[in-house]
Amino acid sequence: MLNIDTDFRMLIDGELVGAVESFAVVNPATEEEFARAPNCSPEQMNRAIGAARRAYPDWRSTPLEERAARLISIADRIMEHRDTLAMLLTREQGKPLADAKAEISRSADWLVRTAQLRIPDKSETQQSGRTVDIRHVPLGVVAAISPWNFPVMLSIWKLAPALLSGNVLVAKPSPFTPLTLLKVGEIIAELVPSGVVNIISGDDRLGPWLTAHPQVDKIAFTGSTRTGKAVMGSAAGTLKRVTLELGGNDPAIVMPDADIDAVAEKLFWSAFRNAGQVCVASKRIYIHDSIYDRLRDGMLQIATLYPPGNGENGVSRLGPVQNRGQYERVRSLIAEAKDNGQVVRAAPVQLPEKGYFIAPTFVDDPPDTARVVVEEQFGPVVPLMRYHTVDEVVRRANDSDAGLGASVWGQDVDAAAALAGRLDAGSVWINSGSMLDPHIPFAGHKQSGIGVEHGLDGLMEYCNVQVIMR
Ligand code: NAD
Repeated sequence: MLNIDTDFRMLIDGELVGAVESFAVVNPATEEEFARAPNCSPEQMNRAIGAARRAYPDWRSTPLEERAARLISIADRIMEHRDTLAMLLTREQGKPLADAKAEISRSADWLVRTAQLRIPDKSETQQSGRTVDIRHVPLGVVAAISPWNFPVMLSIWKLAPALLSGNVLVAKPSPFTPLTLLKVGEIIAELVPSGVVNIISGDDRLGPWLTAHPQVDKIAFTGSTRTGKAVMGSAAGTLKRVTLELGGNDPAIVMPDADIDAVAEKLFWSAFRNAGQVCVASKRIYIHDSIYDRLRDGMLQIATLYPPGNGENGVSRLGPVQNRGQYERVRSLIAEAKDNGQVVRAAPVQLPEKGYFIAPTFVDDPPDTARVVVEEQFGPVVPLMRYHTVDEVVRRANDSDAGLGASVWGQDVDAAAALAGRLDAGSVWINSGSMLDPHIPFAGHKQSGIGVEHGLDGLMEYCNVQVIMR
């Protein structure tokens, strides 16, 4: 039985270990410190990387089918502990229990479905009679760094392809949400050889130590664009491979023929699920002038149905913002919009007295230059903007450094698809919020990232190409 109240240890070289120092983990729904996590020392990080290096030759020569089977056994064991892990995830991250269970289940599913992927190696005979083999070989030690919005799933997104392709891993969760992944580490400890997976938690110094380490071969990073740039700089020292999945500022474009009632509900969740802390949340909503008022009022009405609350109660569908810094930032965006005379419409709901709660909030048709439009808000506030023509909305939607996702909503799916093709975004969804799948590539355009996650393209990012000519 996993103990989720205490005893949080790192996984280093097959052993569960504490650290001399620890740091506090705060429940965002109560603002109370409820646990402490080990603060990894530089020596412990070196030990983790060294153990991974030692484990690498055996792991890369373990048959692929055996590596795939290990991923499936990890998934099975995670599912055995799903409800326990979900409770801990809600405590540290804030998301409602149902969403926490969904994150754990999806993580398990991601392991199983990634394990099905196979990169086709090629062999061809040239006219000269030479045979050319084109293979994909692993890179070595992968450092996986994840943020606090989906701490388990975004780590599994890296662990699964890394291990399947024969790499070994050192994973580092965010210091805001380290605990559930540490418990997943307890599960993994029994299922893979020592050193193949290491999980270390630490304060703000640990990420830069890890990305600068000469024995790390690849960095798989999900986080903000700002940190992504620092990671890339740090990787340059030894030309580490990088996959960077970074911030988004996804436009959602609602066409005049949209089914307003259906769109209102779906778009509300696309913007506010996980309290808006989703990389591919709808963050700028462009609504055709002819339906603007009705859709805005419809979404406001829906917002009144979902007052945020402590996700542990099993009833609330919206939780708090994950940490104080982000809470203050989102509040400052709302305050700035008000100060600048913009119309701010917060759902009239009662908030709990403690906790980083913010009511779902709309900014009503602010100018394109408003901070809440230009910056990724990553919280429960979203700007709604009127548009009149397709050319105009395409130009405004593309006027951003971000290019992660986008969505188009309308009954004429061909017209929506034509508009989708004109958007600068890695993924465009029609008549739905984000839909991600282990077999479908996911890649940010512009400053939303470098490289690809998921699908065969994502798996190949964990490999070097090797050519053998004979
Ligand atoms: P963050 O960039 O502050 O932190 C992410 C991780 O990087 C954390 O583990 C952190 O400890 C670590 N880190 C911080 N500084 C570092 C450094 N200099 N070197 C190495 N590691 C460092 O991001 P966050 O605030 O935790 O997460 C929110 C951001 O993540 C948002 O911008 C969101 O859009 C983005 N995100 C992107 C995706 C995606 O797939 N594109 C998914 C989820 C979140």
